[in-house]
Formats: sequence, C-alpha cells, structure tokens
Amino acid sequence: MSKTAGTYLDCPMCDCEIPISGEEDPKDEIFCPYCETPLLLKKNRDDEFFLQENF
Ligand SMILES: [Zn+2]
Repeated sequence: MSKTAGTYLDCPMCDCEIPISGEEDPKDEIFCPYCETPLLLKKNRDDEFFLQENF
C-alpha cells in the first residue's frame, strides 16, 4: 500500500484522484487537472506522498 510508483493522490480541494508517476520529488508543485489548484507534493512520516494546497 505504500508504493508510490504509478499511483494516485487525492486532491485536497476537489477530491479527485491525480495520477503521479512516483518519480516526482517532494516539494514539486503540480496542478490539479480538474480544479487547477496549485498543489505541493509532500511526504508524510511513513514516506508516502500527499498533496497540500499551495496558494
Ligand atoms: Zn482538484
């Protein structure tokens, strides 16, 4: 469950699933393709990616 390669992350704004390749780096900024919110890629304590709004 903790594999990040070719996974999906939930957009915190619109709850859609955003595909990521798993090769992104923490602090990369990506845009939600649905609500166009700028999102910052972060890692939690379990070394799993999650997305946070980056206004
Ligand atoms: Zn979104």
